[in-house]
Amino acid sequence: MKVVLHGEHSFLEEVEVRSGQKVQECHQCSKCSGGCPFSGVMDYSPNSILEMIVYGMKDQVLPSKSIQMCIQCGTCGAQCPAGFELYEVMNALRAMAKEEGYTSSETKIPKMNKIFLGEVRNSGRMHEVGLIVKNMLSQGELARDVAALIPIGPPMFLNGIMGFGDILPRKIHGQAAVAKIFDNVQKMRGGQG
Ligand code: SF4
Ligand code: SF4
Repeated sequence: MKVVLHGEHSFLEEVEVRSGQKVQECHQCSKCSGGCPFSGVMDYSPNSILEMIVYGMKDQVLPSKSIQMCIQCGTCGAQCPAGFELYEVMNALRAMAKEEGYTSSETKIPKMNKIFLGEVRNSGRMHEVGLIVKNMLSQGELARDVAALIPIGPPMFLNGIMGFGDILPRKIHGQAAVAKIFDNVQKMRGGQG
């Protein structure tokens, strides 16, 4: 599909530059959406998101649930006859939505992403217990989340999948270097995390 809408193509161009993907060249065959494990919980299917970008529908795309629900699994790219890496497009859209202050009805995933990155910055690696506890506290549904954790957490300790040494975060030797990378990226983004 080759469409250029005068006055509306700057959104398309920005997405193409930031993602490195030629969105205009999508054939709209829908193979990506057929294979996407999350298309059923998205408000717009992955191929629809691409079409909406081509038509300059920034105000519909950036607050959409779809761009937050993408888990970057790459299944769509493996099935795409045009070799698109759709997760790169979703990543670019998420960054643009954040920078431009668009809010989505899907708020849990951005919160969890932020906590995940904070854990990696502070320890140099993932601290699962910290992620789980902070995520539960941030989502505002503590009773429901604790109830969901009860059948899972204790068996993990009893079966040796997790130990008491995993409760507190353990920093890697290069943690300061990891934190510096995060700080530099934040500076490059003009102070936005
Ligand atoms: S599979 Fe590829 S070409 Fe087909 S709609 Fe999806 S992104 Fe476009
Ligand atoms: S990368 Fe995103 S859009 Fe592609 S299949 Fe996975 S969840 Fe769906």
